[in-house]
Amino acid sequence: MLNGNWRCYFDAFKIETMKFPFYFVLMLSISIAGCKKPEDIDEQDPPLELETPDLTHLPFGGVAPTNILIRNQGNPEPDHLSLWLCGLPSNGAGNSDASDWTNPDGTWDYDRKPQVQGNVMWASEFNITLDGNGNRIITGNALPNHPTGVFPITPGSPAYQYDGNPNIISEHVINYVLPAMPQIAAEPSCVPFGPSGISLSGSAIYHGSSTLGNDAAAHEMLDRFGGHTDGTERYHYHFPSEDLQDHIHPHSSGHSPLMGYMLDGFGIYGPYGDDGHLIHSEDLDECHGHQHPVLWDGEMVDIYHYHWTYDFPYNIGCFRGTPQ
Ligand SMILES: [Zn+2]
Ligand SMILES: [Zn+2]
Repeated sequence: MLNGNWRCYFDAFKIETMKFPFYFVLMLSISIAGCKKPEDIDEQDPPLELETPDLTHLPFGGVAPTNILIRNQGNPEPDHLSLWLCGLPSNGAGNSDASDWTNPDGTWDYDRKPQVQGNVMWASEFNITLDGNGNRIITGNALPNHPTGVFPITPGSPAYQYDGNPNIISEHVINYVLPAMPQIAAEPSCVPFGPSGISLSGSAIYHGSSTLGNDAAAHEMLDRFGGHTDGTERYHYHFPSEDLQDHIHPHSSGHSPLMGYMLDGFGIYGPYGDDGHLIHSEDLDECHGHQHPVLWDGEMVDIYHYHWTYDFPYNIGCFRGTPQ
């Protein structure tokens, strides 16, 4: 198939050889239209290479201005850079000491934080269909379609000294009916504990807080895909690790591809914007999203979407649509 540049050169050649004024004008019009059609612009642009992330200095969530706001503890609305929770469980568990990978400037270092090792395979079931009546039906067994670390965390392993996560990973019935074309709600919603979204890997996306009310990605022991399990035995992600991004959809330039759906139906894309530059939380609204044309069910659609960034709150600050 000819790309935009080739078609322009081809048409220019035809113009040069055209002797009759009427055809000259006609071909010039076609040539200009062919060069400027919006769908050709992407084909003509040079590849926009991805910015390399610095994961050694990440802001801790729960420390201003990257706050963890809790609605039922006096925070009635979301805020930029922050996660707006509905509440905090009373029986929280997990690691609260991140001092071994905390920098002198108060940021944390993903590269120094231990990971849960292992290569455990799972029989994932996952299916997404559009029902033709405006719904996206997502079903599955919540197991990931990639290997995970060993859970419960192996006693004696580097991760175990920080987090003795005793939970296994088990199947859960997934049956989401989400709007295929979600709408922005009149008011944003707070984020409850449990799944905030579903990754295209088949497992849950959780928000950025642990049940202790600290930054889960910065404290909890995760495997190389940015996931772990919890007291509900549900494997879930807190961090958009490069392994997870590459597994879901490898990409080398421009806007990140879709990584999953949040429970209001809006998509969540990886950490890169249209120009291949990393998106940070400060580039997004208080729900951790923005609106511009993205690939949505095979077409470029100007629609709100979340981004899964390397910095807190990572994936969602509040629901911009109406969560299921
Ligand atoms: Zn978790
Ligand atoms: Zn975007």
